[in-house]
Amino acid sequence: MIDKQKKIIYFDHAATTPLSKKAFESMIPFFMDDFGNASSLHVLGRKSAFAVTEARAKIASLIGAKTNEIYFCSGGTESCNWAIKGFLDKGTHIITSSIEHPSIMAPLKELEQKGIKVTYLPVYKNGIVKPSDLEKAITKDTALISIMFANNEIGTIQPIKELTAIANKHKIPFHTDAVQAIGSMAINVKDLNVDMLSLSAHKFYGPKGIGALYIKGGIRPNKLIHGGSQERTMRGGTSNVAAIVGCCVALEEALNNLDDNSKHIRVLRNTFIDRVLCEIEHCYLNGDRDRRLDNNANFVFDFVEGESILMMLDLNGIAVSSGSACSSGSLSPSHVLLSLGVPIESAHGSIRFSFGIGNTMDHINYAVDKLKETINKLREMSPLFLQVKGDSKFV
Ligand code: PLP
Repeated sequence: MIDKQKKIIYFDHAATTPLSKKAFESMIPFFMDDFGNASSLHVLGRKSAFAVTEARAKIASLIGAKTNEIYFCSGGTESCNWAIKGFLDKGTHIITSSIEHPSIMAPLKELEQKGIKVTYLPVYKNGIVKPSDLEKAITKDTALISIMFANNEIGTIQPIKELTAIANKHKIPFHTDAVQAIGSMAINVKDLNVDMLSLSAHKFYGPKGIGALYIKGGIRPNKLIHGGSQERTMRGGTSNVAAIVGCCVALEEALNNLDDNSKHIRVLRNTFIDRVLCEIEHCYLNGDRDRRLDNNANFVFDFVEGESILMMLDLNGIAVSSGSACSSGSLSPSHVLLSLGVPIESAHGSIRFSFGIGNTMDHINYAVDKLKETINKLREMSPLFLQVKGDSKFV
């Protein structure tokens, strides 16, 4: 996507996506004429309530759920917090992976302080959990398993169906954070056999501040947000009608165009990876080359700082991310890259490129050229690189 005034080449779709025009237009009436509170009994309220009901039914059908299994909330973070904290008093052990998003990691840390034991499964060099590790980690006290569908930094996709088969054998509820995957892949909760799944609209060209937790019938996490009787008494708070409608329209649009979009983005991403690996020395792709989201390429560039690369690309009108957007601003190296075994110094030189439907091959070629220039310039200023270059091994 290019910003018309600033000509920004946007390669940060894993952080957020631009709002689809169709989704935007679908929301407008609910900010203006149809502004009623969906809990009000009069005609304006009923109109809003109807829109929410329709959106809930549509989203449910798009992911293979029943209408009453979708609970709207404020986004991916709330959805993940709910899934985790909702199991606080249901056992003393939770299993997760070592590369989860902070919206899973932070509530788990809080639960650990309350005495819950948490097992963090390794992901090895390719960024993927081994089902046999899950089997070994289960104990009689395990109350919940939460393993993300696709990682936000390196894009690796977990073998969720194999993992849920193990969870189901032991009758343990299974949650997956599918925030990065929904809208980029066909996902059917029944087929996957998950008990809870988190989604967030702004990752699939929908509005920010709206998401949902799918909760399979029969699974009863405790409430996270207490208040009115919205969301069938499970989540208090006035329904964000416009955002709910926009979320539904964006998801439908993304899934209707899934094959074409995926193909387009995959071709761009593969060209980008091939060119970068071939034309820039001392750089590595993080995570499995094939079992990853179509839109993700995450590299380590040795001897340079990720933040410096990011800033120089930004000056050239290219928007990327160093580590995940949520952890940028923190100078600690990404826990995801460290879990892959990437050395701390290299983890500091990582950049995530995440592509989207508005990108073109021209963007890719321009960005690779600018990236090469950037890395060369930065390395010319790196004493470590100059030292290594002088070393006969590398000349
Ligand atoms: N989970 C993953 C994997 C994410 O990438 C994100 C956002 O980056 C979230 C959860 C949180 O979603 P939200 O931004 O809607 O709170």
